[in-house]
Amino acid sequence: MVIDEAVEKKEIIARYRRLLRLAKPVLKEGDAKLIKRAFTIAMEAHKNMRRKSGEPYIFHPLSVAEICIEEIGLGTTSIVAALLHDVVEDTDIELADIERIFDKKVVRIVDGLTKIRGVFEYGSSAQAENFRKMLFTLSEDVRVILIKLADRLHNMRTLDSMPRNKQLRVSNETIYLYAPLAHRLGLNAIKTELEDLYLRFTDYNSYRNIANKIDETRTSRNRFIKHFVQPVKDEIDQLKIGYEIKSRPKSIYSIFMKMKKQNIPFEEVYDLFAVRIILDAPLEHEKSFCWQVYSIVTDYYTPNPDRLRDWISTPKGNGYESLHTTVMAKNGQWVEVQIRTKRMDEIAEKGYAAHWKYKDNTSKYESNLEKWLMRVRETLEKQDMSALEFVDDFRGNLFNEEVFVFTPKGELKTIPNGATALDFAFEIHTDIGAKCIGAKVNQKLVPINHVLKNGDQIEILTSAKQKPNEDWLRFVSSPKAKSKIKDLLKEDRRKVAEEGKEILISKMRQFKIEVDGNVSERLRDYFNVSSQLELLFKIGKGIITVNDLKRFVEYKPTTPVKKQTAEAPDVKDIEQKIKTKHEEDTLLIGEDMDVVDYKLAKCCSPIPGDDVFGFVTVSEGIKIHRTNCPNAPELLANHGNRVIKAKWTSQHELSFLTGLRVIGTDRVGLINDVSKVISEELKVNMSSLAFNTDHGIFNGEIMLYVNDTRHLEMLISKLEKVEGVVQVSRFDKITEKFA
Ligand code: MN
Repeated sequence: MVIDEAVEKKEIIARYRRLLRLAKPVLKEGDAKLIKRAFTIAMEAHKNMRRKSGEPYIFHPLSVAEICIEEIGLGTTSIVAALLHDVVEDTDIELADIERIFDKKVVRIVDGLTKIRGVFEYGSSAQAENFRKMLFTLSEDVRVILIKLADRLHNMRTLDSMPRNKQLRVSNETIYLYAPLAHRLGLNAIKTELEDLYLRFTDYNSYRNIANKIDETRTSRNRFIKHFVQPVKDEIDQLKIGYEIKSRPKSIYSIFMKMKKQNIPFEEVYDLFAVRIILDAPLEHEKSFCWQVYSIVTDYYTPNPDRLRDWISTPKGNGYESLHTTVMAKNGQWVEVQIRTKRMDEIAEKGYAAHWKYKDNTSKYESNLEKWLMRVRETLEKQDMSALEFVDDFRGNLFNEEVFVFTPKGELKTIPNGATALDFAFEIHTDIGAKCIGAKVNQKLVPINHVLKNGDQIEILTSAKQKPNEDWLRFVSSPKAKSKIKDLLKEDRRKVAEEGKEILISKMRQFKIEVDGNVSERLRDYFNVSSQLELLFKIGKGIITVNDLKRFVEYKPTTPVKKQTAEAPDVKDIEQKIKTKHEEDTLLIGEDMDVVDYKLAKCCSPIPGDDVFGFVTVSEGIKIHRTNCPNAPELLANHGNRVIKAKWTSQHELSFLTGLRVIGTDRVGLINDVSKVISEELKVNMSSLAFNTDHGIFNGEIMLYVNDTRHLEMLISKLEKVEGVVQVSRFDKITEKFA
């Protein structure tokens, strides 16, 4: 590539000027100077560096700073920190240099960003550990996380120039952690873009198909919306307030998820878009104006009573406020209408930073966020949690939407969606939870696993004789209750183990054996338990009896017991090994794209032609997953170092197991015709067929062997031609009956 330095220099200056222009509204005296200094330092420091795309490196910090202003609404301190976010790690500049020029806040943020850099670049627990560190900085300065999100967003936008395995790893981390984090901080626009980019880089075909269909349907959609809003518009005009009506289709990713979850084609996603009415209401009249507009909308269109959501009276935990209703349009189509004010809209799109702007007036939402930060901090301070457990727990907190319930005295409590009476008991107090035997919900007696709904009033019933057991873990969904129950069970186990220890020592004494480390290890091997605690617990419980111990003493192993290591083999080792192996096969694995042994993952049953990756497992060698496997995000985000490239080469006449779901109207002989197509016409080997009919609807699940995706597509189109068949689709998971 020929680089014209003069042209490049011009472009850098142009981008810097644009940054200043965008920042202008928030700049105070002296701020422009600070930004200029940060820019000069960054430009000088990154002078000889280029990004993978070939662009000058400085484009990256400039873009990150721009995202901070434009899409998050941050101010000068963050702009400066964003410009400097990569210098300490990548260049000769040290934190002390920055300290000499900028104030403490900037230094702390840059330091935080430097420390959480390389998050997930290493082994699994190190990745989680780093993530924990990153969240720890939340309690110091949330801007570190916000700038990190801006950094991630720009990296995702420019992911095209990265090698394939890096694209997969970065995308999966993004969907696993960064998108939920953006969601929890209320950064809806960023969350949506991250999700769409994830889909683009992991399942390009699905992404493209949906994007095209959104484009194709745009004209007719706009026409529909115009008709829909016209009568409402005329009425709102009478209110004499400023307003705006917008309509945006759902994100590509959320359409994709909906199609997948409900197993429906694009055409059947009924809520492709929502109509949003944004009012210019003064703060003190926000609520009443929103309800007035609600009343206008529902005067014209019948609302679905189950779909009214009032997040104005009780905003979501991430600060989201809006009034949602779903109404029936004149053509019989359901349309979601969102009613909110300009202020609410800005918070909905930009999230946390927008809160600051309205801080004085919205103290109650501010306190919700404060509460969340406190909860994160609390979890962080729990020392005995492993980093991986922690990430799980944190994600649990992220994904749950809340339900609002009341104590008998009328106190409002927020619990995760799906929480039970037992969750609620633990929410009140650990002792109440531990002794919970049931509850009265709205005066009615319910069991401890009763799921609570918005507005329920709950009185917990306790008994001094009650004790937690393993089953309880299935009865709760809140991370708090889960970890409390685990603690209680652990405590209980420890007590039993204490008794077990006494039994063991006294029995062994009878055999004149002293229980030292060596004996303990042999005991663990003999009884095949994973830890000392488990061994002692089993003795204490009487699962390992005195007679068993006697047998152990008499047992003489013929060969020394081999130690088992549960370490996953290193990717490099395997890549080395495969170089010497040359078998004919269809899958190429590793950087050198060699042939090696593998197993196909059961969770997504890949077949030749699928986009796949290899994953080095602890005990079963390399497993091949589809890149859109439901387990991929978790695997790639937590164990990025165990992922290896994999690619199908020429397609052989091999057979691969996959699943097809056939839906149609039931008629005599339909099953016969379906299996005929499969076995006779296509010479496909069917491994199982399960079907049921319900009110005249035929629903069949077929497991069969095919050669590749082309073969599968051909089969699907043949099946679709069978009389009575309405829909044929591939499914990923092998359900219980086939496993
Ligand atoms: Mn960066």
